[in-house]
Amino acid sequence: MAGPARDERVREQVLTGWLLTPAGRLRAGRLRFAARVLALEFDASLERGAEPLPLIAPGFVDQHVHGGGGGDTMDGVEGVRALARHHLRFGTTALLPTTLTAPWDDVLAGLRAVAAVAAAPAAEEAAVLGAHLEGPFVSPQRLGAQPPFALAAEAARVREVLALGVVRLATVAPEVAGVMASVPVWAEAGVRLNVGHTRADAPLVEAFLAAVRAAGGRAGGTHVFNAMGGLEGRAPGPVGALLGDADAAIELICDGHHVAAAAVRTAWRAARERLVLVTDAIRASGLSAGTTALGGQRVTIEGGAARLADGTLAGSVLTMDAAVRGAVACGVPLEAALHAASAAPAAYLGLDDRGLLAPGARADLVVLESDLRVRAVYLGGRER
Ligand SMILES: [Zn+2]
Repeated sequence: MAGPARDERVREQVLTGWLLTPAGRLRAGRLRFAARVLALEFDASLERGAEPLPLIAPGFVDQHVHGGGGGDTMDGVEGVRALARHHLRFGTTALLPTTLTAPWDDVLAGLRAVAAVAAAPAAEEAAVLGAHLEGPFVSPQRLGAQPPFALAAEAARVREVLALGVVRLATVAPEVAGVMASVPVWAEAGVRLNVGHTRADAPLVEAFLAAVRAAGGRAGGTHVFNAMGGLEGRAPGPVGALLGDADAAIELICDGHHVAAAAVRTAWRAARERLVLVTDAIRASGLSAGTTALGGQRVTIEGGAARLADGTLAGSVLTMDAAVRGAVACGVPLEAALHAASAAPAAYLGLDDRGLLAPGARADLVVLESDLRVRAVYLGGRER
């Protein structure tokens, strides 16, 4: 475990490259760090070197990830550890293992597993910051690939979840019984509330966002465009309500399958610093072909898309570096894509020691080649 005494034993190091500044710009320079970032020293002369400079960005923060490396949050402790190991190799230094809509006791077991790993971090794993509870308080009519175990948000269930103290973000559908009434309870516990897997219309989503804010909380949208109604002029739907809001965090899955390039650009132009890249990855993350399982359902992976037998997209096989490449391929500027993979989710989750290359922040770093493949990953100043 990384206590202060051990932190001091991380030696001082220097990396040279294009540094992503806290203002979201790329500037050539040297990054000095030990367990924490010590200084950014900009030096334009480095731009004229013979070799292309690598990119040095804050480690990615993935707030929506079900699995990877063969593991799934719902498998229990070993599943959570497997996904945390897998995603670290692709630059994710902090994440929220995400539960599925499943029988209630299975959801609670998944959350307990996340809590157990969060309490006993291992060196080769991305930091587990808590859990993302995706369902079961969602619409039975907009489940996407979530298994059919949607539930009303009864007060006792919400209390049961919050008593575990591990949920940092919950995806809920505002129209589901109990959800609007439970908003102050979640907000009081510091849990972020995302709208998702919903049949709500825009006025209801706007009322939900306002209720979260009135309760002192923060809100966003889960894999915006997916498992929710689209935007039309006279029926703006959840997409219009979320993009048109001033503050809502906007999750996007940029895998080339979930959201078309023009929709990604539309979201980026509307959301800017509110844009949050997520993987929504399943246990087969990183595979381009094969078969796997999600919540007991058979999933086929072909051409980088994971689908149920009826063709429904079943999460992604992304890693966060691939999500950044996917956003850039859609026309999102590189600096903005890197920001959306680190600073934006960190800010949404209220993490003030991660997500930025700034003196005093944890030295959680990803070093990328000019083709945006991962060259190196640092966790608390140690190369992994
Ligand atoms: Zn989902």
